Amino acid sequence: MELDAGLAGKVAIVTGGSRGIGRAIVELLAAEGADVTFFFRDNADAARTVVATNRAAGRKVSSEQVDVRDSKACAAAVERVAEGKGRVDLLVNNAGIIRDNPLSAMDDDDVALVLETNVGGVFNVTRAVVPHMIMRRSGKIINLSSVAGEKGGRGQTNYAASKGAINAFTRSLAVELAPRKITVNGVAPGVIETEMSQAVRDLAGESVMSRILLRRYGKPEEIAHAVWFLASRYADYITGQIIAVDGGFKME
Ligand code: NAD
Repeated sequence: MELDAGLAGKVAIVTGGSRGIGRAIVELLAAEGADVTFFFRDNADAARTVVATNRAAGRKVSSEQVDVRDSKACAAAVERVAEGKGRVDLLVNNAGIIRDNPLSAMDDDDVALVLETNVGGVFNVTRAVVPHMIMRRSGKIINLSSVAGEKGGRGQTNYAASKGAINAFTRSLAVELAPRKITVNGVAPGVIETEMSQAVRDLAGESVMSRILLRRYGKPEEIAHAVWFLASRYADYITGQIIAVDGGFKME
């Protein structure tokens, strides 16, 4: 039996697609035949490379420079995609940042930037996309959460609060959009080998590793596979769920 995820020709938006997990998601969805536009904040060279390498491989990948904290810019970029491609079938809210610090050492920016990006950004992009999905009574939204949304982590009050909010957002939006035949789910990575987690791995590598049942960090592609599943027709009957992809980090 051959698998067909049903992604060919789907119009997808992925936020934060210029590197790390987002890039792996862009590449997998595009390899499956989706027409992917990714948003990036400031690294235009990295974005150009992602577009060029994927197009050279015959995939449909475009980019838009959009800061997800800017609601007007998000709305305009989503409109450009919807108008240019006729619809939006799939949204992956992946853009996120980390600014770890003990609470008493956190400055205003540590709190505001993390919440504005990780939570505000998801509101901004999702709010712009949802009307297009409602119009077609079809769509899938996948939010990148984190193990930190459920499990306490030292120096992560800002980040954990933002990802706990994403879990709650995912469940409430799933309730709201189910009558419109739109599913909303999340993927909660553990520690994945990207630039974002480099500092954590450098500073607390041994103690973190000892808590991961599978005794290794995850790879961006392993998160992309979970997103692929939730985006596929095999997940048509799944909504309001947060799938942990963390090597068993949450278990102990
Ligand atoms: P990363 O830092 O490598 O990449 C993040 C991406 O988001 C980049 O492309 C960046 O440009 C983009 N971005 C950041 N702020 C933005 C903004 N304001 N507007 C538009 N784009 C913006 O991070 P990653 O490790 O690939 O993480 C991706 C997602 O996975 C994040 O939501 C993160 O919280 C989550 N996550 C990562 C890990 C991990 O161990 N790496 C663990 C759990 C959850």
